[in-house]
Amino acid sequence: MRSVRGMSILAALLVLASALGYREGSLLTREGGAPQHQAVIHKVEDEYGPPYSPWSSSESTSLSSSTPPQARSTADREVEHLQKSDASRKIAYLTFDDGPSSHTPRILDILQRQHVQATFFVIGKERETDKRMYRRIVEEGHVLGNHTYSHDYSRIYRSTEAFQRDVERLNMLLEEQTGVKPDILRFPGGSNNHISWKAGGRRIMASIAREMSKQGIAYFDWNVSSADAAAVTLDKQSIVQAVKQNSAHKDRIIVLMHDMDKKTTTVEALPEIITFLKREGYEFKGLDKEESFRCQFLQPPA
Ligand SMILES: [Zn+2]
Repeated sequence: MRSVRGMSILAALLVLASALGYREGSLLTREGGAPQHQAVIHKVEDEYGPPYSPWSSSESTSLSSSTPPQARSTADREVEHLQKSDASRKIAYLTFDDGPSSHTPRILDILQRQHVQATFFVIGKERETDKRMYRRIVEEGHVLGNHTYSHDYSRIYRSTEAFQRDVERLNMLLEEQTGVKPDILRFPGGSNNHISWKAGGRRIMASIAREMSKQGIAYFDWNVSSADAAAVTLDKQSIVQAVKQNSAHKDRIIVLMHDMDKKTTTVEALPEIITFLKREGYEFKGLDKEESFRCQFLQPPA
């Protein structure tokens, strides 16, 4: 009798353990998974570097007993964060890098027509038309993010101080033009890029990431690539297709797109991308330092 009861308790524990394990695992895969855009078009890596970083192992593996304590607490925080806010909703954060460009007005028109909020990770441009675009982005309710003033890898990744100077230079311009000083950032090439090594060595991204975090600037990578960097001008349908495939089974998506003169097909693909994501049940939001799902290939080292 006793051994039967012992057996059933053991069985119940096993069921419970596997259920917990499954939940944690699936959450991590969905929300903090490795940059899955590589699955669709590998050429993207040419520009953004391979998805490896010494600190990102927690992102590419599911939670297990071998998970280092640091990774576990990060994952736990992520889970807690999701439980607190919008846990049951699907949210899409559209992001446009490298603008303003000649397409910015059209992108803004499309977003306005579709009642969609987005985030623009801009670079430093001083022409009047560009300054007007910084202002329009803010006036129309979108979020301005810092993508460095020069976007010049050999300059910004030379040292932490050089990076900081470049970021600060753009923040001053943006604050002067819009009254808003961005507190969010996207690293040119993403936080795990290897192109920076040439200018600043292998530890440079970790060093900069640590410093930015210390200063209260949040950086965001992406978990859905539109693949529009895979060619100078990728055909429209491939861009739409990449977003469809890369967003599958994800509730929080940060979509990488480019606002550059040569990216004519990104603008053409945008209405179709928005229509698709709306049909899939996503709401659209601008990135927010406190609130948003934070996708980071490289976790800021302590
Ligand atoms: Zn860029």
